[in-house]
Amino acid sequence: MGRVLLAAPSGFCAGVARAVETVELALARHGAPVYVRRQIVHNRRVVERLRDLGAVFVEEVDEVPSGGVLVLAAHGVAPAVRDAAAGRGLRTVDATCPLVTKVHREARRYAGLGYDILLIGDPGHDEVVGTVGAAPGRTHVVHGLEGARTLELAHPGRLVWLAQTTLAVADTARVVAELRGRFPGLQDPPSDDICYAAQNRQAGARKLAEATDLVLVVGDVNSHNSGRLVEVARAGGTPAHLVDDPAAIDDRWLAGVDVVGVTAGASAPAESVEAVLAELAARGYPEVSTVRVAREGLRFSLPRELTEFDA
Ligand code: SF4
Repeated sequence: MGRVLLAAPSGFCAGVARAVETVELALARHGAPVYVRRQIVHNRRVVERLRDLGAVFVEEVDEVPSGGVLVLAAHGVAPAVRDAAAGRGLRTVDATCPLVTKVHREARRYAGLGYDILLIGDPGHDEVVGTVGAAPGRTHVVHGLEGARTLELAHPGRLVWLAQTTLAVADTARVVAELRGRFPGLQDPPSDDICYAAQNRQAGARKLAEATDLVLVVGDVNSHNSGRLVEVARAGGTPAHLVDDPAAIDDRWLAGVDVVGVTAGASAPAESVEAVLAELAARGYPEVSTVRVAREGLRFSLPRELTEFDA
């Protein structure tokens, strides 16, 4: 019989919990349908459950009928999206995580001071698209080390780097070092952009990599922070896989494995973690103990638009 080490904290962060609760509360207050732009959080199960409750997921605001209630997802949006929603007379509830909003504020402030912003992140990710929109024309997306090596700036002046909130800490440090080698005056952000939840889950993945033979990360394939956890565990020298569906756990992964490490991305619900633990128990890993790397008590207040609608 093998055993499981479960990282704590893992699973939902404060920003995801707030976004999900926002949609639930909007549905309770206004009734279905409530429209949600893009995936409220990057997890298929969460999206399906909210769809069953009456949420309608759209790609863009022009799919929402005039006067409809629209929830903006946790990853944040460019101001142009809010303007478009206002232009259609939508009642908008902004579920952008406050820690993403903080990065938007930094981008606007530095752009206002005449800086160019080197935003380290995935150019295709909704969060990065939203942050670029906060300071358009001043923000240059740097995608990994290769992006840092190939970035071309026509007139490099005052420069500051900012980051997508869910990046891997160690990779980001390497990208910053590369950028600083090329642009020595590069300024650091005023505070960590990589959020507490991503950092804690990465610390947990590192711990699991040290203490286990295999790391399973519960999360959706399009969850950026979950993907980083797989990379962090592998960087620690331990095989690691992303698991969305417990049935997809491959028996070959478990061959010769005594201790399986389990963690979950910030958008993975507790039910998904429980389903993976149940599957592991059925495959000979019934004993679960927890390895705690941090305590999290953070909670964000709900968007004020929800209470303003009541007035
Ligand atoms: Fe907010 Fe961090 Fe959670 Fe993203 S991962 S929603 S930035 S707390």
